[in-house]
Amino acid sequence: MHTTPDPEKSICVKATAYHQLLDTLPLIIYAVDSTSKRILYGNEFFRKRHPGWRTTPCHALINGLDMPCPHCRRNELFDAAGNPREQSLEYEFFNEFDDHWYQIQERALIWENGRPVHFIIAVDISDLKETQNQLAEAHAALVLKHQELEHIACTDSLTQICNRAQLARIFDKELKFVQLGTDNFSIISVDIDHFKSVNDSFGHAVGDQILIAVARTMKNSIRSTDYIGRWGGEEFLILCPQTTLRDAVQLADRIRQAVAAGEYATGKAHTISIGVATYSAEDTLDSLLHRADLAMYRAKEQGRNRVCSEEM
Ligand code: GH3
Ligand code: MG
Ligand code: MG
Repeated sequence: MHTTPDPEKSICVKATAYHQLLDTLPLIIYAVDSTSKRILYGNEFFRKRHPGWRTTPCHALINGLDMPCPHCRRNELFDAAGNPREQSLEYEFFNEFDDHWYQIQERALIWENGRPVHFIIAVDISDLKETQNQLAEAHAALVLKHQELEHIACTDSLTQICNRAQLARIFDKELKFVQLGTDNFSIISVDIDHFKSVNDSFGHAVGDQILIAVARTMKNSIRSTDYIGRWGGEEFLILCPQTTLRDAVQLADRIRQAVAAGEYATGKAHTISIGVATYSAEDTLDSLLHRADLAMYRAKEQGRNRVCSEEM
């Protein structure tokens, strides 16, 4: 006849070599009677953490709850007939009662007293989690820093448009497309008129404000496919992929008109002179820019506030 084992008896852990071995491990190891929730066995590491282990059900002892834990997964460990399954459960768990993270391995067994138990090996991974969090935060900060640095490396600090190095990089990239196909590619060289007199009359700080305002106006006047940057001083360069000379001249004149119509901190009108050139075979940025600059100087000679192109 089948007799119900006495769980009290099972609590008396015999100091076998096997138990001594488990006592040396720096892991939390314990077995819970799956029906009564009483703890049948705990290794030394477990017993030291939970002095009340002999008398307190597992949900109260480990999770501070007065009823079985809602997250308890022991049912997954047994099949419909109540027999232990082969597979163990492995999961990470944050215990709100003691504020610690655990890596848990849980398995169903039939205990030596014949009762179904779940057997748990838990590793406290709170330090690991903390390190992982710090690493994730450090990584996020690094990504942000990298984006900031990338922005700084590509941007003119005063006007917040592309800097010279970035314009050169974009030119190299666009040139590859132009050389591959039959695309047009034009550039627009811009120089603010009589800018020295702005500094002389209103001071360098006001001069800076005019540079910022002119750059913003020009940026608002170009198309989304164009690139604008500060080439240096009061000189700007606009790269216009897939744009013929004629279209670039039209765009340049729209930009010129927008700048001339702007309102500025000086209370005066400010104008720009523009030279336009278009890519032809064997051009480099220098050779193309040289032709655009020659056209821009002609615009200056002809009275400023105008657009000249290399063919005009
Ligand atoms: P032009 O119409 O012939 O171009 O005359 P300009 O006075 O604009 O030309 P010039 O080359 O004689 O003077 C350019 C001035 O731009 C001189 C320089 O002090 C000023 N400048 C260059 N960079 C900056 C800057 O970052 N901030 C300020 N405020 N002024 C600058
Ligand atoms: Mg100049
Ligand atoms: Mg100038």
